[in-house]
Amino acid sequence: MPSTAGDAVGVIGAGGSGILAATYLRRRAIPFEVLEARDGVGGTWHYDPDGGGSAAYDSLMMNTTKLASSPAAMRIPGPPWRYARRAEMKRYLERLVDREGLREHIRLGWRVSEAAPTAEGWTLRSDAGEDRRYRTIVCALGTNGAPKWAPVPGSFSGEQLHSSAYRTPEPFLDRNVLVIGLGTSGAEVAGELADRARSVRVAVRSPLWLMTRRIGGFPIDWIDNEVVSRVLPWSLRRRVVQGLCQLTTGRLHRLGLPRPTRRCGDDILGISDTFPRAVRRGAISFTGGVAGSDRGTVRFDDGTEAEIDVIVHATGFTPPTGFLPTFAQPGQFNLYRRILHTDVDRLYFVGMFEAHRALLPIAEAQARWTAAALSGNVVLPSVEGRRAVARAEGERNRHDFGGRRAFFVDWAKYKATLTKDARTPSAA
Ligand SMILES: Cc1cc2nc3c(=O)[nH]c(=O)nc-3n(C[C@H](O)[C@H](O)[C@H](O)COP(=O)(O)OP(=O)(O)OC[C@H]3O[C@@H](n4cnc5c(N)ncnc54)[C@H](O)[C@@H]3O)c2cc1C
Repeated sequence: MPSTAGDAVGVIGAGGSGILAATYLRRRAIPFEVLEARDGVGGTWHYDPDGGGSAAYDSLMMNTTKLASSPAAMRIPGPPWRYARRAEMKRYLERLVDREGLREHIRLGWRVSEAAPTAEGWTLRSDAGEDRRYRTIVCALGTNGAPKWAPVPGSFSGEQLHSSAYRTPEPFLDRNVLVIGLGTSGAEVAGELADRARSVRVAVRSPLWLMTRRIGGFPIDWIDNEVVSRVLPWSLRRRVVQGLCQLTTGRLHRLGLPRPTRRCGDDILGISDTFPRAVRRGAISFTGGVAGSDRGTVRFDDGTEAEIDVIVHATGFTPPTGFLPTFAQPGQFNLYRRILHTDVDRLYFVGMFEAHRALLPIAEAQARWTAAALSGNVVLPSVEGRRAVARAEGERNRHDFGGRRAFFVDWAKYKATLTKDARTPSAA
């Protein structure tokens, strides 16, 4: 028999998004429970040296300032122009859980393996076979769930790992390392291994736009700030962001760094300080994509080949929504306000988005909207109306960001829309 949580909301995930969802549900006195697969809260920032579900590595530092990364619910302690280290973020999120009185509502070690809609709401099944019932579910899973791997054709006989399993440089000393992919993770791993590993190569087919954290000592995320981003159209800000990439890392192209092939902003931006320094020292070389392999030899698209001991796949993730039925999967055109599923009842998403910005304050706006909607304080259009808006929001994403990444939002305007909706008095 399933345990029943009555009219409660089931929040899946106790990373930053789940903690913020729980914070605003509690503030609106909506009963809820949080189900978390791992043995602690904090998601990405709950580091585990042995792997265990976080993509954080030992030296991880945020690439967004404390000011830009802080939700309004509670500031990240310390000078606002600094960048939080992973342990600070973990402490911060744990403190938020305690301050908001959430701890007793969180079930740790409860991995949702199946979600089934019922006449009254949802039944969630854990991987241990326990069932729990909820009226509504909020998926707060982040977008960094399931690692994506690049194909390595042939018979490569060395070690392969995903960047989410990278922790420290020690296991790579004196080895020939190939990093596939050059987003933030690829750049940071390659930068950290340069001059430590015997050699570091980066194989990249679609180079991303890269920037450093600061320009002339000034944090870059203070330039594309909330006021500027609400007023200026993305088409104009895109040129500013491109200019910042060119100013901070443009010279690296003369040293072999491949030039981006896509429009700036259509993909995530790589942000790293260690990587540009390593390229300037000549400690990293670049190749085209991987074309094939023969035991310890890897062949590249540009016709070159190299002896490789270990391949790090820095090729991103897919969202961990596999436990939802196919018809309930989130997509580019079926989320009203990028939160509420248009075709499945009582299914919300908090944290299912990407942005050229610190993510937690945007997740907070979604959390606040969700709690307001569930307490009847957001005026929702009819189902047909929601579908039309969701379609238009998806088209906007395609126009602004090329549509390769389904969940990109123009962050400040998006936040402003959510805030306005949640202020609209209830029609009831
Ligand atoms: C290496 C790295 C660096 C980053 N740097 C920055 C940065 O500088 N600035 C920034 O804003 N963002 C950064 N991010 C993004 C960061 O993930 C977000 O800021 C934020 O922490 C995401 O929170 P979340 O709760 O949405 O997702 P997560 O932190 O991924 O949390 C999701 C939670 O859901 C749980 N879960 C997943 N599936 C299930 C299931 N089936 N059942 C139960 N529980 C489940 C997971 O165990 C996890 O605890 C970085 C991410 C990575 C990987």
